[in-house]
Amino acid sequence: MEAIFDLRNVSYSYVGKILALKDVSLKINRGERVSIIGSNGSGKSTLLAILNGLVYPTSGEFYAFNNQITEEVFDAIKDNEFRSYFRTKVGFVFQNSDVQLFSPTVFEEIAFGPLQLNIPPREVRTRVEDVLEMMEISKLRDRSPHTLSGGEKKKVCIATVLVNNPDVLLLDEPSAGLDPRTQLWLVELLQDLGHAGKTVITATHDLEIIDMISKRAIVMGEDHRVKMDDDAKTVLCDYELLIASNLIHEHMHVHGKLVHEHLHDHEEEHKHGHLTA
Ligand code: ADP
Ligand code: MG
Repeated sequence: MEAIFDLRNVSYSYVGKILALKDVSLKINRGERVSIIGSNGSGKSTLLAILNGLVYPTSGEFYAFNNQITEEVFDAIKDNEFRSYFRTKVGFVFQNSDVQLFSPTVFEEIAFGPLQLNIPPREVRTRVEDVLEMMEISKLRDRSPHTLSGGEKKKVCIATVLVNNPDVLLLDEPSAGLDPRTQLWLVELLQDLGHAGKTVITATHDLEIIDMISKRAIVMGEDHRVKMDDDAKTVLCDYELLIASNLIHEHMHVHGKLVHEHLHDHEEEHKHGHLTA
């Protein structure tokens, strides 16, 4: 199988001192669906930023499509052909929709990327219409993105990425703050994209969706190292690991694929208020 991403002993520190990733080695193959899980601050977003060529390893090596990505080759050279290729292949959905949205209307927001790539306006229009329909947001086309609900904004952000038809999608906590119906819609969308052959890499701490949206799960520990990298179902069954990685607490139990809070009837535990998630 072809590895599209290959990290070799990658470490990353912000401003040279705040450790975010420690000695991360992993490969991701074309067409894989992978979840990156871990508690707050474990390094999920930083790992996605490396994969998207937004930041570069402080040490170690990162290869994408068999090219090493360094600041020198990726950032510094103007009109870099590989960078253009990379940008058309890889799409990123930010955790915070507001940083991704800046156009006066939803239509213009989605058209922006393809127009930047010099795709003829007539084709851009068709593509935008298609993606509006696919995302079920046609009726939002003339709305200002900033006035939309959280779930609507998320859909528009995903649309701005899908309109470029990337092979690889990186999503940072896409289900956070979505209502249950929109969450289900998102799960189905990620499944469909996976079945269409896309590589889908999702950072999340929503354990309930992991084995629906991915076959593989990478667990980041609080020490910023990869704690486990295995079949999603295997990871979800590793109760000790999930506790150690601060993904569940001791009063949550894993039943099959779903994680439930388990109400103990011991007096003591109630008194200590352990049941708040
Ligand atoms: P996660 O996405 O898993 O919550 P992050 O990758 O955002 O984790 O963060 C990993 C570590 O890097 C954390 O300790 C965080 O405080 C730190 N960090 C993240 N972004 C920045 C930044 N822009 N500047 C300084 N430190 C940062
Ligand atoms: Mg994050």
